[in-house]
Amino acid sequence: MRRIAILLVFLFLWADQAFSQRVCATEEYIRGLGGLAPVSSIRPPAATRPLGNIPGNTVASGVPSAVIVIPVVVHVLYNKEEQNISADQIRAQIDILNKDYRRQNADAQLTPEVFRDLAADARIEFRLASEDPKGMPTSGIVRKKTTIDFFGTDDRIKSSRMGGDDAWDADQYLNIWTGNLAGGVLGYASLPGGSPDKDGVVIRYNVFGNTGGAFGKGRTATHEIGHWLGLRHIWGDTRCGDDGIDDTPPQVAPSRGCPSGVQASCDNAPGGSMYMNFMDFTNDECTNMFTLGQAQKMRLLFNEGGLRHALLSSARADGIPLEDVIDPAAPAPGEIKLYPNPSTGTLNLRFNADPPYGDIVIYNHLGQAVKQLRITESVAHISTIDLANGVYYVRVGSSKRAYKFIMAR
Ligand SMILES: [Zn+2]
Repeated sequence: MRRIAILLVFLFLWADQAFSQRVCATEEYIRGLGGLAPVSSIRPPAATRPLGNIPGNTVASGVPSAVIVIPVVVHVLYNKEEQNISADQIRAQIDILNKDYRRQNADAQLTPEVFRDLAADARIEFRLASEDPKGMPTSGIVRKKTTIDFFGTDDRIKSSRMGGDDAWDADQYLNIWTGNLAGGVLGYASLPGGSPDKDGVVIRYNVFGNTGGAFGKGRTATHEIGHWLGLRHIWGDTRCGDDGIDDTPPQVAPSRGCPSGVQASCDNAPGGSMYMNFMDFTNDECTNMFTLGQAQKMRLLFNEGGLRHALLSSARADGIPLEDVIDPAAPAPGEIKLYPNPSTGTLNLRFNADPPYGDIVIYNHLGQAVKQLRITESVAHISTIDLANGVYYVRVGSSKRAYKFIMAR
């Protein structure tokens, strides 16, 4: 009986810990990779590294100044239905990221006056992908049922063979996996320069989006993507450590809960700790900023020769928004054949299945329906003479799949 009581107390403490403080496993994860140094000693490679620490108020030459748009794929792994998070929850998270990385977050006004001039619009935005690695339209959301109860930081969640879902091309997408994580971990991230098939961030399903509670404002994803973009914890992962950024003051250790006023440590007067920084461990509702130095460090990765430069030429986030893709590992092969492609004026559609074929809809690259037809024969000849040159997509009936063709004459 006593043993059971102890076990219950242990379980209670464990569960309590799981939801009362931020547990970011990035440091532990990177250490576990063995081949890489811990996150605290990772630096960008020479091509992206200015000499010494990055001053917060200067801009290195060559850093692209335009808004950087990153196509995102969200791999939803679920064992229980509650883990199969809704498209609305996912879109809410993308919205939060866009606000946090553009300093359009409503709580930006809560940044203390002493730090307000250091707060940055990182000019980075995120879009759910509209085109998958095969060039097919997608919602940017992949759902997969798994037999795994809890995922650890061993990256099984990133492998279809191991019960997770394979990464999409890391040069073209930010991969985000959501699922149930063991040990109270809210999330972890790979760092720039790691293995492409492990590249991305992993977020516990119930802190992804606007879910409520201490970590229910979507800042776990903001924090982990900060790591993915090369940022370190603000206290440098060691007592009064250095995060490699000049405009973040030193602090003795991670902040917890929701501090207020000046929290002095490590001679960080006059402002004290920057506990409202997204790279601290403060509760979601009490974080609200990246600094100019952090923004610059992230953006340097997109510079010529930088480890995230390839993403700048990814066009996977333009085009037609679709419903969720259900298990792309099992598409029905050869549902239709579409020829000639590019089309000059007549598009032929051959159905490999029996009738009825139903309606087809043709969308332009903006996702606007430009043609709708009822198909009654196994080979249909569709006039496309009225379509301007460009990329189009054909969707058949209620199928989640769509087929791309090009008009060129
Ligand atoms: Zn972290």
